[in-house]
Amino acid sequence: MKPGFVAIPSEDAVRFWRGGVDAYGRLPEHAISDGGGVPCRHCLKMVQAGDAYLILAYRPFAGVNPYTETGPIFLHASRCQRAVMQEELPEILDSERYLLRGYSGAERIIEGTGGVVARSEISGRAAYLLGNPNVAFVDVRSAANNCFQCRIVRLDQVSERIT
Ligand SMILES: [Zn+2]
Repeated sequence: MKPGFVAIPSEDAVRFWRGGVDAYGRLPEHAISDGGGVPCRHCLKMVQAGDAYLILAYRPFAGVNPYTETGPIFLHASRCQRAVMQEELPEILDSERYLLRGYSGAERIIEGTGGVVARSEISGRAAYLLGNPNVAFVDVRSAANNCFQCRIVRLDQVSERIT
């Protein structure tokens, strides 16, 4: 079982690029990257120094329940290409540690799955968590600030569905 890293859906990014409001009903804030750790959750690349980006409240879930946490994310201010689902660690995951947490298909936290791991252990930990049939997906969050980074799903199952 291989873990695949997934970016936020393009339909969400496009909505913000077209002036849509965020999860709190507010317009995204505009900022210019100073080159220091501004990860775009759509292309899963860093926003380079001098490039514009959006800061907005995002809830990376389809539904709403007590576990569907909302928090801040960054997004390129102008259109970027959504990262293809990949087995390799995305460029944005360049911090030393991340918080990984498993969710059920009903988008609820699975007790005991949450924990902080070193960057080098992300894929291994995700594969272990996804080995639990109750875990539908694993979310990667900033260990320091709890910001949503990207999602991890079962790569092999996704390709089986596609082919
Ligand atoms: Zn981007």
